[in-house]
Amino acid sequence: TDNVIAAINAYTPPRRVHVQLSERSYDVLIGPDLIKRAGAHIAPVLPQPRCVIITDSNVAALHLPTLQAALTEVGIKHATLTVAPGEESKSFETWQRLVTSLLEQKVDRHTTIIALGGGVVGDLAGFTAAATLRGLPFIQIPTTLLSQVDSSVGGKTGINTPQGKNLAGAFHQPLLVLADTGALKTLPVRELRAGYAEIVKAGMIADAPFYEWCEANAEGIVGGDDALLSQAIEHAVRFKARVVGDDERETKPNNGRALLNLGHTFAHALEAECHFDGTLLHGEAVATGLVLATDLSARMGLCPQEDTGRVAAHIARAGLNPRIAGLNAEALLAHMKQDKKMREGKLTFILMRGIGQAFTSNQVEEDAVRNTLLANGA
Ligand code: NAD
Ligand code: MG
Repeated sequence: TDNVIAAINAYTPPRRVHVQLSERSYDVLIGPDLIKRAGAHIAPVLPQPRCVIITDSNVAALHLPTLQAALTEVGIKHATLTVAPGEESKSFETWQRLVTSLLEQKVDRHTTIIALGGGVVGDLAGFTAAATLRGLPFIQIPTTLLSQVDSSVGGKTGINTPQGKNLAGAFHQPLLVLADTGALKTLPVRELRAGYAEIVKAGMIADAPFYEWCEANAEGIVGGDDALLSQAIEHAVRFKARVVGDDERETKPNNGRALLNLGHTFAHALEAECHFDGTLLHGEAVATGLVLATDLSARMGLCPQEDTGRVAAHIARAGLNPRIAGLNAEALLAHMKQDKKMREGKLTFILMRGIGQAFTSNQVEEDAVRNTLLANGA
């Protein structure tokens, strides 16, 4: 009984963020051991005690047996489909293979798809669920920091096409999201840092006190401190849920979901210039992009000059690179112009009137962008 009492005392209930949407609302639970306890959380929301888990082989080796045991424990039948890890799996070929396997297994409208993995698995499994039999119920168990704070919230699912990233997909909201902070223990630190950039972004867009809290706790968060990680994830999820709730289908031209792209025009250009070859993770590019967006805002007289150094120092302390690692400024500009379509010689960017005050501007001069790139390592 001492052990039982110790276990009860050690148990803290997960943090809960309610995502309110017109078509459906659902909870994001955040905390340790959520995969181990998945049965108790999942069983009440399932329309039928039958699931198909979609995962990648890295995550399968580390966390699949725990999930399978948790489902078996509460009498939920489950099968598993495993894909290769990496962005290449977000393809028509893999998606077709998954849809075909589900139909061969004779799933019905009430069989639930569980995505166990990072953003690749979440996007791919979500789009598989959205399309199969015109929409199967779907649960997300994100296992990277990026997927816990970003891709698992908001309902965007999809795959890449030869024309570009995420160009085929659907909005498909989950029944439930379980963000197990314990799963992050096995995540390479580089991936943890990349996810941290998207957390910092949330503060920079709309919440200066949260930004300051991140600044004070950056080392602890990327060092894997459980309590700090849970707090940071809850805050970032709350932020994204609020933005998404206001602009579910990204129909607001300016200050809805578009704001989530702070730092991303720069980031996409950096990623494109690195040919998406794995040398630069998306979150790493976003980290540099946040510094560049601050520099550009300061250069245009919108936010204090000292903010650039402040953001750069924060990014560096988190073990991320604040500077452009020797890429060509004109090549980066070419990517941005292609990405954005210029209007009367002006580009559209998310800028800040100070940390926590982001807005959309379509009045950005190409020269200001060039100067920002040249001043920061291009
Ligand atoms: P990822 O899914 O490729 O995961 C990164 C790596 O970590 C992979 O090798 C994976 O196998 C491994 N991994 C995952 N969890 C692990 C764990 N707990 N322990 C050890 N290894 C683990 O990458 P990501 O950064 O999670 O997601 C990137 C994807 O997310 C991109 O395709 C991007 O387009 C998408 N995304 C989608 C949205 C959205 O709103 N839908 C938002 C942002 C990003
Ligand atoms: Mg991003």
